[in-house]
Amino acid sequence: MSEPLFDRIALIGIGLIGSSIAQAVRARGLAREIAISTRSPETLARAEELNLGDSYSINAVDAVENADLVILCVPVGAYGAVAKWIAPSLKKGAILTDVGSTKASVVRDVGPHVPDGVNFIPGHPIAGTEHSGPDAGFPTLFENRWCILTPPEGTDPDALARLTKFWEACGSNVDVMDVQHHDLVLAIVSHLPQLIAYNIVGTADDLETVTKSEVIKYSASGFRDFTRLAASDPTMWRDVCLNNKDAILEMLSRFSEDLSALQRAIRWGDGEALFDLFTRTRGIRKSIIEAGQDTDAPDFGRPHGK
Ligand code: NAP
Repeated sequence: MSEPLFDRIALIGIGLIGSSIAQAVRARGLAREIAISTRSPETLARAEELNLGDSYSINAVDAVENADLVILCVPVGAYGAVAKWIAPSLKKGAILTDVGSTKASVVRDVGPHVPDGVNFIPGHPIAGTEHSGPDAGFPTLFENRWCILTPPEGTDPDALARLTKFWEACGSNVDVMDVQHHDLVLAIVSHLPQLIAYNIVGTADDLETVTKSEVIKYSASGFRDFTRLAASDPTMWRDVCLNNKDAILEMLSRFSEDLSALQRAIRWGDGEALFDLFTRTRGIRKSIIEAGQDTDAPDFGRPHGK
């Protein structure tokens, strides 16, 4: 175990991501103290039962006082209010970061509240599951996953290096990019697939000619892989859609155009076009496995037949 990187880390929000950070910090000895805050007494009590931190408070101000690293782990729609609340209590020299799935909105909503002398560096670990709440967290969530940092112009390089070291110590690889680029990339790799999943599961649910029991019974034919995504937290995804509107709409319109082309190929019996596309996409899957971002085990590593 190495020397702690921070004296006191404050986690504002202790769901899947906050809980996973707390456990990674504990397991790797990255802080002397972990201060936890969440808005509901129930979640706070559960975090304490799970022994995720050293102090617990409904009042986020108590958590951020004297913290040298503050991480916002709440849905992005709540950022503005939380930032306004904690800003006057942030320690000079502290790093204020987050884990939100959208980044331009974070600069817009949090940026104006950040006091002078506090290092504001938005971040986004590209790691997660469809589960929510403190029980869903686990210490290895960030291992071999990317974490994207989007430091605003003029960010102190020492603060950036320290935050980079933190995520690397959690097992992640760190990339730096600007917020617009982040939001565009994430719109295609994360937000669009999520919307497609919500849509396809919704369509199946609305069908009258196929019964719900048949949808469930025969789901192993492909449908169930969409249902994993479609089971994700509705609050989080509502906030992502509202806060990455432009990039998502751009990707959705490209998707619709490509879907129309696919529709046309099927209508006209253009087998060659279909075969070419399906061959190209197979190559992408291969690259993802080669990059260590998934396993090539059948059914995404789930026990076969389950
Ligand atoms: P989660 O498990 O649902 O936990 C959410 C946490 O935020 C809880 O502590 C909850 O408090 C609190 N919260 C919810 N609404 C709030 C509000 N309006 N005001 C203040 N606090 C509120 O969520 P999560 O999956 O950890 O996601 C947290 C952040 O990580 C989000 O910004 C999300 O975009 C980002 N992220 C998620 C994933 C993923 O796969 N889930 C991946 C990467 C990044 P109570 O329980 O006390 O109400």
